[in-house]
Amino acid sequence: MFGVVPKPLWQKKIEADERNRIPLACRCLLVEAPEALVLVDTGIGNKEDEKFRDIYGVENAGEPTRLEDGIRSAGFEVDDVDIVLSTHLHFDHAGGNTLSDEGGSIRPSFPRARYVVQKGEFDFAHSGNERVRASYLLHNIDPVAEAGLQDFVEGEAVVTEGVRVRPSPGHTPYHQSVLIESEGRTACFLADVCPTAVHLPLPWIMGYDLEPLVTLESKRTLWERARSEDWLLVFEHDPEVAWGRLDPASERPTLVVLQEGMDAS
Ligand SMILES: [Zn+2]
Repeated sequence: MFGVVPKPLWQKKIEADERNRIPLACRCLLVEAPEALVLVDTGIGNKEDEKFRDIYGVENAGEPTRLEDGIRSAGFEVDDVDIVLSTHLHFDHAGGNTLSDEGGSIRPSFPRARYVVQKGEFDFAHSGNERVRASYLLHNIDPVAEAGLQDFVEGEAVVTEGVRVRPSPGHTPYHQSVLIESEGRTACFLADVCPTAVHLPLPWIMGYDLEPLVTLESKRTLWERARSEDWLLVFEHDPEVAWGRLDPASERPTLVVLQEGMDAS
């Protein structure tokens, strides 16, 4: 998760277990936009086997997963979701796009929704390249397209009023972040351009990233905008810090955490 950053540095921020794993969240965002209920990313889903769940330490049991439980606890039903927006199609972001039902067949988890992703990301997921194919499990992707539910965006685009996607490449070539705009304020769901608050410094980049120097430039331009426009930054994988703002007085990206009980790292 920290690429070339040496363990003596990162372990001061997040402690690893005996198998060198660290706690991570798969935080999805449910956005009540004026004209659509938008779900941004869907976590890992319920389709992977015991070996996979053990390797990654997956804790996602629910009805059928924590994601659907979360949607209901927010006061909605799964069928209320109008748009499933994917930042990219890695298994920890698009795994809940489909589910395995009781009969064992795999189908879209949100049959009433339109699914949206960058066209380039969809094509890249099907490239079969040896370095990247383990991250793209096609049973998360193909049943959606086969059901005719897949839509595409290319570059910066408005998905629905108040929800805009902004390319933030590097982790994958067509990775995108999501901007939510309301009453003149902006929140940015960063996704894997900056998975946790610990990754705020420009060179703290995951080893998973295909083009780390591109990630670095994506972060540089994001932090400039985030500082000058006082964005709320939302972290998808941080187990403690859901969101915060950048301190405009600090030259280094320093987070001001807003919610009580959430630790600033
Ligand atoms: Zn991820």
